[in-house]
Amino acid sequence: MSTNPKYWAAIPAAGVGHRMGALSPKQYLDLAGRPVIEWSLKLFLDHPQISGVSIALDPEDRFWPQTAFADHPRVRRVDGGSERCHSVLNALDLLAQEADAADWVLVHDAARPCLRRDDLDRLLAALPDHLVGGLLGVPVRDTMKQVTEGSAVRRTVPRDALWHAFTPQMFRLGLLHQALRAALDQDRSVTDDASAVELLGLEPRLVEGHADNIKITRPEDLTLADFYLRQQGHPGHER
Ligand code: C5P
Repeated sequence: MSTNPKYWAAIPAAGVGHRMGALSPKQYLDLAGRPVIEWSLKLFLDHPQISGVSIALDPEDRFWPQTAFADHPRVRRVDGGSERCHSVLNALDLLAQEADAADWVLVHDAARPCLRRDDLDRLLAALPDHLVGGLLGVPVRDTMKQVTEGSAVRRTVPRDALWHAFTPQMFRLGLLHQALRAALDQDRSVTDDASAVELLGLEPRLVEGHADNIKITRPEDLTLADFYLRQQGHPGHER
């Protein structure tokens, strides 16, 4: 293992976002004067510890070349896959051309434009000596119900040990690659990177972040994201 690992970002951005009902994928919708994806990427490109960014895009994507970071010298584009985990794997393969297996990779959804710099810094500071890696999240606040297919409540799930899992999710490149590959080989469905690592029997660490790190999923999320960005001190939303 190298003693001075580098840090990289992998951004899955190949989703279509059907739940938004929009003409363009949700990462390209306008948020306070710039596409969602620019907000999500900027934090990593501005961060002095991040060596480079690999971004997984739909092979047919015609929106990316019009964005501000399309020709950025530290951004590399790769084709995404049919599910998020395939897109992340492709992004990791691209990084592996430059990065060491012991380097850290932060996987961050293109659809999460409100990540705060201090949350990113907290994650980076919390994990360098951790054997597995971890992710940002927040503890669940509402009472949680398990329901039947017909939406009848079957039981109330104790919430003390429940967290919402966010991104970035930070793992060693080699470990994450192995974990995602194994999950796919076993045909296991993984909706985030940590769950692939968990399938190896490992325990990623949850690092508490802010609840405004939302994923744009429905149209009303854009209004909320605009509000959060203003609250975070982006009043002019300038480029
Ligand atoms: O669909 P969902 O909101 O869970 O997607 C999370 C992130 O994964 C988004 O940034 C989306 O663009 C990305 N994704 C991807 N490849 C897919 C599906 C989703 O890169 N096939």
